[in-house]
Amino acid sequence: MTYPLHPEASHFVNGRYLEDTTGTPLDVIYPATGEVIAHLFEATPAVIEQAITSARAAQKDWAARSGTERGRILRRAADIIRDRNHDLSVLETHDTGKPLQETLVADATSGADALEYYGGLAASLTGDHIPLGDGNWAYTIREALGLCVGIGAWNYPTQIACWKAAPALACGNAMIFKPSETTPLSALKVAEILVEAGLPAGLFNVVQGAGSVGAPLVTDPRVDKVSLTGSVPTGRKVYAAAAAGMKHVTMELGGKSPMVVFDDADLDSAVSGAINGNFYSSGQVCSNGTRVFVQNGIKEAFLARLAERLRGAIIGDPLDQATNFGPMVSAGQLGIVERYIAKGIEEGARLVAGGKRVDRDGFYIEPTVFADVTDDMIIAQEEIFGPVMCVLDFDDEAEALARANDTEFGLAAGVFTADLTRAHRMVQGFEAGTCFINSYNDAPVEMPFGGVKMSGVGRENAKAAIDHYSQLKSVFVRMDACEAAF
Ligand code: NAD
Repeated sequence: MTYPLHPEASHFVNGRYLEDTTGTPLDVIYPATGEVIAHLFEATPAVIEQAITSARAAQKDWAARSGTERGRILRRAADIIRDRNHDLSVLETHDTGKPLQETLVADATSGADALEYYGGLAASLTGDHIPLGDGNWAYTIREALGLCVGIGAWNYPTQIACWKAAPALACGNAMIFKPSETTPLSALKVAEILVEAGLPAGLFNVVQGAGSVGAPLVTDPRVDKVSLTGSVPTGRKVYAAAAAGMKHVTMELGGKSPMVVFDDADLDSAVSGAINGNFYSSGQVCSNGTRVFVQNGIKEAFLARLAERLRGAIIGDPLDQATNFGPMVSAGQLGIVERYIAKGIEEGARLVAGGKRVDRDGFYIEPTVFADVTDDMIIAQEEIFGPVMCVLDFDDEAEALARANDTEFGLAAGVFTADLTRAHRMVQGFEAGTCFINSYNDAPVEMPFGGVKMSGVGRENAKAAIDHYSQLKSVFVRMDACEAAF
């Protein structure tokens, strides 16, 4: 590959790579082998200060440019990403351990989609003209927020960086992005490519580090907005810290989403949905449908077909394009998943597939299925964020909907049925921000994505994200004389 795995430096600030070796060392581990592939350093206060200063200095000029000009740069970056998709995918595979078979189609490409989409939208971002009668009128000016901070999770490092950067930059903001400390490599390439595409220095900066680097960014008074992708506990902390400064927030948090399979569903299609919604990226997807409710009449047929299809999982070297199931991102995440599997067994769920570590280096665990899971079990309530599917049984629609909604989370929900009216009725009843009918986990940039309840605030993607990266200034215009009581 063209890209060396070790980046030129740890951070990307003011249009170039920046190193500060006095920061806490940050080793990058390849999840497929456990080997250290890069030595980086967490951002020091001096690095954070440079990032904030350069972003603030660059933002006003950027916002003053025409949307057409901003959009052109984003679309150029999308083209560069597509041209280099293979190398970027290899890098993403090293960052995350996800199979190249996936990263080639779901990571840099989805980042490019976001840059292309918001690049196309940038020129049409306007306010409104509001006629008020008597010749008076008002208008609104759509303005950038200023400096936005993006904080990422480790499952989709390239995609998350682009899903935040593209709408932020299209609206005229600057962004400082802090990737997850587990997957720091990919976002640096996004920064490099944006500058190559013509983005002025300072508008997209990447600083590395854990929560201790994210926290001062969130509280800095020069920051206007925070967009976090992460877990609910982190979301609570970051939302509270941002609220103290009355900052705008977008919170893309965790879930324990339901997928409801009725007995009239196409069985193979439903099994595909369950596989996509539980085992893609080794189960490390926030919107996964990890509570699979299967109507009693087809439960055993569903489980039998699922077991058959699981034999198609090719677990191995993620760089081998035949591999379709890779390792967990880290030893820590593997440990969490192993503990949940042990808990499921202890709680009396029936282990029907997987459950064991794979006998090879790296952080591998088999795709795992529990049947006879009940709502009160911990494995049915808490987000595991690994390849553990819980299959629960149900009798009728009202019961399925009530149980599907009986969770603090509300990120996603899916339904498989041949009955069209029932599908839409279920979707109307789901307490979830993102729903799927006879499918699961599709996330095109044209469709808003996000959660309700504890799963988040705000939306990413589509035109909806524009409202979260811009604000309206209202202007009342009086055409006749202004009168007063005295
Ligand atoms: P995490 O919450 O541990 O960390 C997320 C990010 O927040 C990291 O970059 C971390 O360094 C940073 N962080 C931690 N404490 C912070 C603080 N006090 N201030 C500022 N930043 C802080 O999550 P994770 O383990 O990296 O990712 C997995 C979680 O992310 C899961 O819960 C998953 O569901 C969720 N997720 C959600 C979406 C979504 O779009 N809804 C997408 C992917 C992942």
